[in-house]
Amino acid sequence: MNLSVPDYIAAIKPYVPGKPLEELEREYGITDSVKLASNENPLGPSPMAVAAIREAINTLHRYPDGSAFHLVRKLAAHLGVLPENIVLGNGSDEIIGMLAQVFLRPGDEVIIPRPSFLMYDISVQCTGATGVYLPLRDLGIDPEDIRQAITPRTRMIFICNPNNPTGTIITQEAFDRLLNDIPPGIIVVVDEAYIEFVRDARCLHSTGCAVSDRPVVTLRTFSKAYGLAGLRVGYGITTAEIANLLNRVRMPFNTSIPAQAGACAALEDTAFLEKTIRTVHEGIDFLYAALDDMGVRYFPTQSNFFLIDVKRDAGEVFEHMLREGSLSAPWSPTASPNISGSMPGLMRKTCALPKR
Ligand SMILES: *Cc1c(COP(=O)(O)O)cnc(C)c1O
Repeated sequence: MNLSVPDYIAAIKPYVPGKPLEELEREYGITDSVKLASNENPLGPSPMAVAAIREAINTLHRYPDGSAFHLVRKLAAHLGVLPENIVLGNGSDEIIGMLAQVFLRPGDEVIIPRPSFLMYDISVQCTGATGVYLPLRDLGIDPEDIRQAITPRTRMIFICNPNNPTGTIITQEAFDRLLNDIPPGIIVVVDEAYIEFVRDARCLHSTGCAVSDRPVVTLRTFSKAYGLAGLRVGYGITTAEIANLLNRVRMPFNTSIPAQAGACAALEDTAFLEKTIRTVHEGIDFLYAALDDMGVRYFPTQSNFFLIDVKRDAGEVFEHMLREGSLSAPWSPTASPNISGSMPGLMRKTCALPKR
């Protein structure tokens, strides 16, 4: 076959997701495994969401409401914005793709801190735009480094807050200063997938930018704190103008009937959300204390995962943990050459202690 595709598409390295548990159990002959690699909710899905999804399946012969009337209104009320400030995605991953599709073309530059969430890279590469990678400073995203990286070709800036995989935050104050210096025509994407777990009061919360009409797109998701990663619902909060552009490329039925019903119910399930946050914080504090006792170095986190310095090849520790039935995510300086070379191996793992 003579398939002609752009070079920038052929060059994309496919995203490798964390292995599903069943595959791991088959491969390693174990039956009682714990998945710590994808930052999923240790309590399972929101029970109110599950009940709403059960009920919703009776109408599966219908197409979903393409405008997701109820969910969009509920989210807007929940966030103090207008319905026209919301864009729904099949997970927030899809919104990252929509942002790239709408705003980027070959020759554009996109500032992406590294290491950060891989989907930014992949979505940018799909458009032929150029990723400008910024090494982290003390494992955090440095606003001054972002400022310095801006050129006349810059079209978009990604900020993951808290950052995956380091668990670090950017402060409201630093972000506000940065935003004032950003030239017009640049979109700032703030990914708040883990914002519910943040304990540091100085942390940036960016949803207010939609109201003040700043060129910011905040990404949120039901995949983590609400326990609905398999349902695939995420959303963007932004100016009505940007939301309108994104909605032009959005597939009309990108959130299913169960997804819309489940997400609506999850928003009301405050007891589950609070229990999730409490469980994660207790897990973090327990692990901090245990690692302190063991003399193991780790990096404090504002998220539901954290990095542990395993002082040896992270791949080996990963393999060993796999054989014991625990799936983590190895992360070594060779995989992320920009991180300080003095750390031989780091493991990212979900903080909450899963019930076995
Ligand atoms: C998990 C995660 C998401 C959420 O992705 P969904 O597509 O909504 O499941 C987004 N950003 C980051 C940084 C994540 O780790």
